[in-house]
Amino acid sequence: MTARRPLLRLALAALAMLGLAGGVLALRPAPDIRETLYLFGTLVEVETHGVPEPVARAAIARVEQRLQALHSDWHAWRPGALEDLNAAIAEGRPHVVAPLLAQVLREGQQLSCTSGGLFDPAIGALIEAWGFHADTPPEGAAPPGTVIAALVARQPRMTDLSISGAEIRSANRAVQLDLGAYAKGAALDLAAHELRAAGVADAVLNAGGGVQVIGSHGARPWRVAIRDPFQWGVVAAIALRPGEALHTSGNYERYFDQGGVRFSHLIDPRTGHPVQGIVSVSVLDTSGARADAAATALAVAGREDWPRVAAAMGIRAAMVIADDGTIQATPEMNARLEPVPGGFPSPVQVIALPEGVLPPVCPGI
Ligand code: ADP
Ligand code: MG
Repeated sequence: MTARRPLLRLALAALAMLGLAGGVLALRPAPDIRETLYLFGTLVEVETHGVPEPVARAAIARVEQRLQALHSDWHAWRPGALEDLNAAIAEGRPHVVAPLLAQVLREGQQLSCTSGGLFDPAIGALIEAWGFHADTPPEGAAPPGTVIAALVARQPRMTDLSISGAEIRSANRAVQLDLGAYAKGAALDLAAHELRAAGVADAVLNAGGGVQVIGSHGARPWRVAIRDPFQWGVVAAIALRPGEALHTSGNYERYFDQGGVRFSHLIDPRTGHPVQGIVSVSVLDTSGARADAAATALAVAGREDWPRVAAAMGIRAAMVIADDGTIQATPEMNARLEPVPGGFPSPVQVIALPEGVLPPVCPGI
């Protein structure tokens, strides 16, 4: 079979050339345009399909400009709009922010509520205490238990915020916002919106742990791979449908090791301690922000509880990899996972989502 593939390719190439020579040139679709941008501290590959090059380039430039501005506005530990808001909250003052930031905070509040507080961007002080407010992974000792316990006791929650228009108040001065768990998803939602508004109907945005698709790649879908958290390689591939987003949260990129223990950058708001036991969570959804937030929430929920939290958040397709290599997936995710050559690293256990789980109700938001 493999020996015949080069022949097949040659035949296809010959057919394509015949097509061009036969006068099909005028109908040839616009070439795919590919650009790599450095946004949100990571490389983002943007690829458009079937769009004239000047339109594609202008749309990508617009995305770059908007996301670059958001990166500094939403940054958790560099001067910017979020830092100003955090300072106001610590002083007990109301503060007016840009409408887009207010909207993203409202979305974060909803997502935090449905996750039962396992995803909670109000725990910025805890994330900082563990040393994750830096560009490089922390080194040295874990923070003293008393410091962590004191921060947890102050119970910072997204639900402490009241957002009226663009004015933000917090009933709790311990709230310190860190949007790291869903900023990439929310930014890719926005980027997709910008591309569509600029006349791009088919494109993919790939930001490492987060991928967002608009439309398709002509007759074939956009295919992406989920990274193996244990070694250089791939767990599975997924063909993304128009409008889908895939986000993966893992402890293989940002963490620190101490005394043989790996401390993940995902923190459990209930204990103030890094998540243990789960190494990677992937969530497929139609909203980038929700997929990204849910990937974090399911990692915090852990091996037993993640199906319940997925159901509460309205997530149907998720895959969870534990530190012993176990791969669990919901039926909808399992149906979408395609093995790569060599197969899945271990058999996929299919876990049905519980029925009838209602999202928690959060009064006032
Ligand atoms: P990445 O794409 O960078 O891996 P994730 O989506 O996994 O990001 O989110 C990790 C980031 O989210 C952390 O670096 C921290 O800033 C923040 N975070 C950690 N734990 C929580 C939590 N329980 N709720 C909300 N945000 C969190
Ligand atoms: Mg996330």
